[in-house]
Amino acid sequence: MDFPRLTQVEDYEPFIGPEAVDRLHQKAESLRHLHVANINSTYYGGGVAEMLSSLSLLMNTVGIKTGWRVIQGAPDFFSITKKMHNALQGGDINLTARKCQIYTDVIYENAVRNHLDNHNFVIIHDPQPLPLIHHYKKQGPWLWRCHLDLTAPHQKLWKFLRPTIEKYDAVILSLEEYRQNLRTPQVFFFPAIDPFTTKNREMSETEVEERLSHYEIPTDLPLVVQISRFDPWKDPEGVIWAFKLARKEVDATLVLLGNVATDDPEGAEVYQSLIAQREERIIILSRQDTALVNALQRRAAVVLQKSLREGFGLTVAEAMWKGAPVIGGKVGGIRHQIDDGINGFLVASVEEAAARIVQLLKDPDLRQTLGGKAREKVKQNFLLTRYLEQYLDLFNSFETIYRLRR
Ligand code: UDP
Repeated sequence: MDFPRLTQVEDYEPFIGPEAVDRLHQKAESLRHLHVANINSTYYGGGVAEMLSSLSLLMNTVGIKTGWRVIQGAPDFFSITKKMHNALQGGDINLTARKCQIYTDVIYENAVRNHLDNHNFVIIHDPQPLPLIHHYKKQGPWLWRCHLDLTAPHQKLWKFLRPTIEKYDAVILSLEEYRQNLRTPQVFFFPAIDPFTTKNREMSETEVEERLSHYEIPTDLPLVVQISRFDPWKDPEGVIWAFKLARKEVDATLVLLGNVATDDPEGAEVYQSLIAQREERIIILSRQDTALVNALQRRAAVVLQKSLREGFGLTVAEAMWKGAPVIGGKVGGIRHQIDDGINGFLVASVEEAAARIVQLLKDPDLRQTLGGKAREKVKQNFLLTRYLEQYLDLFNSFETIYRLRR
């Protein structure tokens, strides 16, 4: 039987050069005996799952046995963890004993079902599976990879989680500015994209047309696009409002594409709250179609990511990779991707977003200049090989410590 060919680090050579490819193999050489487990809370529907699906495979191709498992829970569990997610990003939470009990009970059940006693490294993603660490005898380092914007975590919740976080051997955050006062060492890895997935690979004009016409998206006017989970932090209301203001001066079609992750019960509610705003030139779609994401990002005259909080914002890098001019909220990781006025625009209000939409729609040369620089920024900074290398360096540093101890 023929198996599909997996992406190899060699495939990145046109973007990163042969030396970087060799360096990655060298760094992986001493790690080939490792068995690594990743645990998160959804197989699809957000940046974490997006990266895990590519990174876990790429790690296997450099010789590190890397697995990925997802915790299970009923909707009430995920409704509590979504509240925690929001509160870690600065929202409010009524942290009752009942919520804490459900959280710890469901994680205990998952610990019984999963057997993580034989892994050299265990990487836990985000707050949902965090307490798993209480239920195993560690065989190697446990790492907590938190993808959230931790600028101002809810203090009572942080106090509740902190003793658990401090059981980890290291914490990986997306930005230096998310650093917390912890006894555990903290390192900082920007997220990254895989340029070879259906979502990011090159697409012909015919393929783009086919996807857009499949969903009856009109292309007679320029497209303004935002692609995000249906989540209040992504500010879909603000996007519609900004588009309506911009349309007083220029004609365009807005496409708001979203999906709903299994660990995000808020999504359906947010989607329902938006559909009343649909009209001929405001298209609101809830679909899980990665080729459509690709087609929209390629065809868009303007991509928006008007988030109010954003750990990183993988959709920004995805769109920039396709040479789209992106208007992003001046928050979290978006500020590290977009250099304002150079490869996109940063905005702090609906009015600013509207003004930038108008400016870009009126100026195709500007769109092209910003888009060209946007792709270069991603090539230099946000491709998956850079992320892989940071993990290899971290594993190697732990391996050195463990070897010295032995
Ligand atoms: N995404 C998607 N379809 C959608 C909405 C989002 O495939 O309708 C993907 C998007 O392309 C990106 C991820 O979900 O890969 C979102 O990651 P991001 O870091 O932007 O936000 P998160 O959802 O993790 O907060």
